[in-house]
Amino acid sequence: MHVFSKLTCRQLTYYFIFCILSSMKLYNTLSRNKEKFEPMGKAVTMYACGPTVYNYAHIGNMRTYVFLDLLRRGLRLNGFKLKGVLNITDVGHLLSDADEGEDKMVKAAKERKMSPWDIAKYFTEVFFKDCEKLNIGKSEIIAFATEHIKEMIDYVAELEKKGYAYETEDGIYFDVSKFESYGKLSRIKLDEQQAGKRVKLNTQKRNPYDFALWKKAEPNHIMQWESPWGMGFPGWHIECSAMAKKYLGQVFDIHSGGVDHIPIHHENEIAQSEALEGKKTVNYWLHGEFMLVDGGKMSKSLGNTYTISNLEERGYSPLDFRYFCLNAHYRKPLNFTFEGLDGAKTALSRLYSAIEKHKFSNVTTDKKTIEEYRKKLLDAINDDLNIPLALGHLWTLLKNEPSIDIYNLSLEYDKVLGLSLEKVEKTVEEKVNIDIPKNIIELAEKRLDAKKAKDFASADALRNEIQKLGYSLIDTKDGFEIKPL
Ligand code: AMP
Ligand code: ZN
Repeated sequence: MHVFSKLTCRQLTYYFIFCILSSMKLYNTLSRNKEKFEPMGKAVTMYACGPTVYNYAHIGNMRTYVFLDLLRRGLRLNGFKLKGVLNITDVGHLLSDADEGEDKMVKAAKERKMSPWDIAKYFTEVFFKDCEKLNIGKSEIIAFATEHIKEMIDYVAELEKKGYAYETEDGIYFDVSKFESYGKLSRIKLDEQQAGKRVKLNTQKRNPYDFALWKKAEPNHIMQWESPWGMGFPGWHIECSAMAKKYLGQVFDIHSGGVDHIPIHHENEIAQSEALEGKKTVNYWLHGEFMLVDGGKMSKSLGNTYTISNLEERGYSPLDFRYFCLNAHYRKPLNFTFEGLDGAKTALSRLYSAIEKHKFSNVTTDKKTIEEYRKKLLDAINDDLNIPLALGHLWTLLKNEPSIDIYNLSLEYDKVLGLSLEKVEKTVEEKVNIDIPKNIIELAEKRLDAKKAKDFASADALRNEIQKLGYSLIDTKDGFEIKPL
């Protein structure tokens, strides 16, 4: 018998109200609305645009991956299993997102006098080390563009067969005029834009918004592969559509990235994939806002791009930076300043002290309070990942009298916040005693007993013995403290 048939009408109403209230809402860039999140299958299928590994990822890039991590943790808090793909762009991303200029990988290879593969390997490793330092969990599938050239060629060939692609002297292009809803993510209207921003540098393109699916390579181009159109390399956008399809299927739940991807990269991904499949291929488009520096753009030419290592060199921990990111909602621009980072550093160290107070308590807290704060966490996360609100609730929770239940609940908060709260150290006093060998502690306890029994001769002898073994004993109000000599 189905469980619902055993419930009364009132119980059923409560059950459905609970489900509605506790369901996760996420802001979908496509609809410009917060929508109830309903995955299609047992595991949430998600694709995130990964780094172009031609250089060190800067803190702006890392903000976007902190956002991805918070999203993944928020989904897990709701009990969802995840199947996520993060791609590594190691070919095809030209200097301008709109297919102009040199390939970023090739340019870096020339400048550093290394092969593009070595460049990719090096910067990919640094990227994942930074992720680890920031407690950014790894996606289930990491997909390198250069390992999926065949899938991309097949994808382009299929688009060509369906009449969406055409050949020019320098490559194969997607004809945006054939895809009626081009521009629906960024809400641009092609007829109003034709003479607009995107300059038509390539005179063989039919429309200024047409984009490269495949580029033909000059004989001396370092990265090139055989294709039905001669030697060449893939366009940047095709890698995401082809790899998402390979690992997640024709339709998947979530696609994420930074807001800069909305008008070009993701618009083009939608065009390619919907043209190929003849239907919507992504249910939720999620975008993280940019990190600014001193109120302006972060750019290498202005000398204001910092990496996680740069911050470490200046005495900040990667988690200070993570805390800094948690202070702003992912859809709000976040202005990076060192004063702001100082504030985050101080706040995080206060948070650790506040946690410590609860960690070593053996007092408990009433169930109602704990449930109330557990719900507050879920409600905040389910309201389009309101992490600043969740952080605020944690601070209020910690202001309560020390309690082990509060400590345990803080760790539940940390499953989403990712601030390593479980690593909070014991107080110096306790740590000293913990590192001391068992036989020394036994001698110290014997001495304490002797002292309490006013057997001072034995107490002194035991103290000497402890000293001979390399430890000093200090009497404290509650007992003793032992330190290595
Ligand atoms: P890229 O390596 O250029 O492909 O970028 C990697 C990710 O970082 C993409 O999702 C971008 O949208 C994102 N991104 C680039 N610059 C910033 C920034 N200043 N703030 C936040 N995210 C950024
Ligand atoms: Zn992408």
